[in-house]
Amino acid sequence: MVMPAREKFSRGSEAYCCCLLLLFAYDSPPSRRSREEAQYNSEFTQFPQHFQVPTVRILGIESSCDETGVALFDTESRQLSHRLFSQVEMHAAYGGVVPELASRDHIKRILPLLDEVFAESNCSLKNVEAIAVTQGPGLGGALLVGTSVAAALGAALAIPVIGIHHLEGHLLSPLLADPAPAFPFIALLVSGGHTQLMAVERVGDYRLLGETLDDAAGEAFDKTAALLGLGYPGGPALATLAATGKPDAYRLPRPMLHSGDLDFSFSGLKTAVLTLTNKLRLAGDSSFESARADVAAAFEAAIVDVLTAKCLAALAQAGMERLVVAGGVGANKRLREQLTAAAQNRGCKVFYPPINLCTDNGAMIAFAGAMRLTNGVAVSAFSGGAFSVKPRWPLAEISFR
Ligand code: ADP
Ligand code: MG
Repeated sequence: MVMPAREKFSRGSEAYCCCLLLLFAYDSPPSRRSREEAQYNSEFTQFPQHFQVPTVRILGIESSCDETGVALFDTESRQLSHRLFSQVEMHAAYGGVVPELASRDHIKRILPLLDEVFAESNCSLKNVEAIAVTQGPGLGGALLVGTSVAAALGAALAIPVIGIHHLEGHLLSPLLADPAPAFPFIALLVSGGHTQLMAVERVGDYRLLGETLDDAAGEAFDKTAALLGLGYPGGPALATLAATGKPDAYRLPRPMLHSGDLDFSFSGLKTAVLTLTNKLRLAGDSSFESARADVAAAFEAAIVDVLTAKCLAALAQAGMERLVVAGGVGANKRLREQLTAAAQNRGCKVFYPPINLCTDNGAMIAFAGAMRLTNGVAVSAFSGGAFSVKPRWPLAEISFR
C-alpha cells in the first residue's frame, strides 16, 4: 500500500548527488578491464540481440519501494551473497509507504549494504562483470537511487548496466530454490502491489493470463489487518492471528471464484470484512476482541480459496504441471499448504522461492539479470543513464510476445 505523495518527487536530487559522489569515489576503473577492453558495450546502449555470456558475476540492486536490496550472484559457482534493509518500521507510523521518506532512506542504506555484500562474498568491485538494477515499476524517487548508483558504478567500472523489470525478478526468483522448476510453468505473482497469473515459457517469454481488477492480494491483507487493528504491513500479523481462529466461524465471499476467467477481485471481500467488523464493534468491544481471530481466519480462508482455484484453472488452461508462487503473500503458510495439496491432487507441483526471497530483494534482480545474460535474451538497454526509470512499466514490454 503506497501513500499518495503529498508533493511531486524532487526527482531524487539526493540521488543525483549520490551518483556524482560515486563517480568521484570510483573514478579509476580497474586496469584489468579498461573501457577499450570491456567485454560489453559500456555506453549502456543496445546490447546485441542475442548477446550471450556463459558465466557472469553480477551485482543486483533493488530500490523500487520500501526495501533496499543488494546482491552479488555468480552464475558459475551459483554463490549468492545478499543484504536487505527493510524500511517497514519507519513507514509503519504512517500506515503505508511514504515515497519521499523511502527515497531518502535508500540513499542512507545502499552503500553500506554494498560494502557488506562485498565483505561477505570476499569480492570487490573489480570482480563485478555486470550490474542489474530495478528500472521499474515502482516509486520514481526510490528507483532513482538504485539506478543512480548502478549507472555510476557501471560508468566507473566500464561494465554493462541492465535495467530489470521488478516483476521479472519476482517471477524468476523460485528458480533460486532447490529443487528449481523447469520451464514452462505457471507463475502466481502475489505481492502488495500485484496479483497476476502468468504463463512462463522461458526467460523473457511471459504471457499474462489474468490479474486483479482492483486490490492486490497483499493490499487486501494489509487493509483487512488495519480493520482488525493490526499494524502495518498487516499480512504477516493477520496470518499469525488467523492461525488461532476458526476459518469457518464466518462465511465470507469468494469473489470471482466462478467467473470463468483467471481474473481476481478482492475489494468486495475487504468490504465484507468492514461490514462484519462494524457489526461486531456495535455489539461491544469485547465481542469484537473475541471475534478478531475468527474474522482473520475466515478472511485468510476466503482469499486462499480463490487463489488456489484460479491457480488450478490456469494450470489446466495452459496444460502445464508446474506452478511457481512469487511475491510477499507467497510466504503465507495457509496458501502454501492448500496450494501444494490441491496441486498434488492434480499431479502438479508447486515451487516457492526461499522464504527470505519472497518479498523484495536484490538477489532476484541479480538473478534475473544473470538469466537474461546467460540465456542470450536481449536485455533492456539502459540508454537514459541514471534517469531512465520506469515507474509504470507493463511486463508485456519486456516479453517476446
Ligand atoms: P510489494 O513490494 O508489492 O509491496 P512484496 O512482494 O514486498 O510486495 O510483499 C509485501 C506484501 O506481502 C505485503 O502486502 C504483506 O502484507 C504481504 N505478506 C507478507 N507476508 C505475508 C503472509 N505471511 N501472509 C499474507 N501476506 C503476507
Ligand atoms: Mg514486490
